[in-house]
This record gives sequence, structure tokens and C-alpha cells, in this order.
Amino acid sequence: MDFARQEMRRTILDPRAGFAPVESVSEVRWDPLTGHTARVLRDRVPLVPTVDGEPAQLAAQTRLGCPFCPERVREVTPCFPPALVEQGRIDVGAAVLFPNLVGYAEHSSVCVYSPALHHLPLAAMTSALVADNLAAQVEFCRAVQHPGRPAPRLGSGWASLNANHMLPAGSSLYHPHTQGAVDSVPSNEQRLLAEVPAARFRDYLDAERQDGRRYLGGSPDVEWLAAFAPRGPGELRAFVWPAGNPADLDRPLVDELGSGIATAMNFYAELGYSSCNWALYGAPVDRVGYPLNLRMVLRSNVAPLYRSDVTWLERLHHELATDVLPEDLAERAGDRFRR
Ligand SMILES: [Zn+2]
Repeated sequence: MDFARQEMRRTILDPRAGFAPVESVSEVRWDPLTGHTARVLRDRVPLVPTVDGEPAQLAAQTRLGCPFCPERVREVTPCFPPALVEQGRIDVGAAVLFPNLVGYAEHSSVCVYSPALHHLPLAAMTSALVADNLAAQVEFCRAVQHPGRPAPRLGSGWASLNANHMLPAGSSLYHPHTQGAVDSVPSNEQRLLAEVPAARFRDYLDAERQDGRRYLGGSPDVEWLAAFAPRGPGELRAFVWPAGNPADLDRPLVDELGSGIATAMNFYAELGYSSCNWALYGAPVDRVGYPLNLRMVLRSNVAPLYRSDVTWLERLHHELATDVLPEDLAERAGDRFRR
């Protein structure tokens, strides 16, 4: 397993050093699974600045008229046809799931962690909230992918569970929720991951475990690490070995994964961030040996005049530049993912 990297050295006459020549070193890294490149910068100009505290004022402003709050959620959100979901919506614990008004996929869902939690900062996320939300999304995937159980309907074989946590991450609503997508066509990232030979995932995790600098632990079923060549700042990855599709997740796996995602969200809050994305990429049942892949990345903070974390490089070159060193991230994560 190759952890390929290439240094980039440059010299500028630096005004911060009286215009003396100052050399800086950055590096390009190649992802061992998909081959995509990322730029890890060591210039230490904080690209995604941290902030203190949560924007409580924004929470109050957006609370008025919010469609996901308890007094409105069952009045203004859509329902599934009874042939797909008999009760129209799916309730698991505090989570409420219903169809997305916006059709990102053949089957698109929205799942609110809890209608009562309009303000749900990363620091307040719990294992139970994430696990119940995931369990509802799993039920949604099963309902649309396995209508004639147990035989899977291969036509809608590409499922993913996703989250835009807070407005800078792409959410149109302040009230935290997740989104499910089940489609006959994969997204670009789903396709790339599903093309990776199954043995390569094992080799990658073996190599990361042996190297140790980015490996975060977990269990034989779910393993966590800091990405070598991140797709976004502060990227954490998880691999769920016993399942290749969200519909295959049983409740113990849902609980374990939910606990890991909540741990990661709490960790991001501890680092000084309030917004993130995550995606759990499923593949069709015929991709034997494919482990469910999870990626989580930091986004710019909810703050006035914030700097976007997406520049020409990320948006138009499909390449990340980050000054969050993966090895530093793993060191700060410590042993919180170990079980
Ligand atoms: Zn709300």
C-alpha cells in the first residue's frame, strides 16, 4: 500500500520577516483508494478559522416558522405513498423521517434528529440522536429498495445517507437533519469508491493500522481514521465491514456507527467548529466485499463574514487544500474512537 506524497517548496520575500527570503513547504498527497489528490499546507494561516460559542441569536431568528419544529412538522412536511411507507412518515425514537420536497434522487428523504431540537449544536449531539436517525434512514432504504422483501430491487441499488449540519454546510434550514438518497445512478464518489477492489480496502486499513499515525481505532466491525489525502478539512473516515449498503445495517451496527458519528461531531465542536458534512456511501448488493464508507468533513463556521472553505480549488478542480494536518487531527482525537 502506497502512501504517495510529493513536497512543494517555494520561497517568497516575506513582509512578516522584513522581506527576507522565507521558504515554505506544502505537499500533494494521493488517496490510496481512489487516487485523488489533496494539498496539505503547512503555512499555518488558518484557512477555516475557529469561533467561540454557538450563534444562539440565529437559532432564535430561524425558530419562527421552521417547518421541522414540533408545531409544524406533521402539518407541512410531505408523506410517502402508503405502498412505500404505510404510516406516511417513519418515527424512530425522537427522529422523524419524511420525503424530501427536493428530489435529489429517485427516492429522497429528510430525517429530523428531533423536532424539539431546533438548536442542536455539534457539542450537544448524542449517540442516541444519531443512532435513531440512522435507524429511521435504514428503514427508509429498506422500504424503497426491498419492497418485496427479501429480494432486493437492484434498480435503485445506490443508497447514501448524508448530512449538511448547519447553513455553511449547505443546509437550507437551521434545524439539524439528515438526508437519504436512493437511486439507480451512483454519484461520482459512490462510483469511484465502488470501483475500488474489495481487497484494497483491507490493505489500506491494514497499512493505516500498522502506521498508526492516522488510525483512530473502533471495533472489528467499524474502524475510524483520519484521511491521508482528505476531501475536506479535518476529514475523518469510517469503514463498516459487515455492510455494503445502508439497508444491511442491523441495530447493533447502527448503534455503533451512531456513537462514532456523535463522537466525531463532539470532537469537531471541541476543535472550535460548528458546521460539518458527512456521507455514508452505499453500493448495490452485487459489489461483494465492499464496506460501507463514511466521510466526515469540517465546514466554515456559522459566523458573520465567514470565509468559505470551498474555493476555486475545491469547487472547480475537485481538490482540497487544508492546513489541518491529518496526523495532528488524529493526535488530537486521541483514543475517543477506541472501543
Ligand atoms: Zn426548527
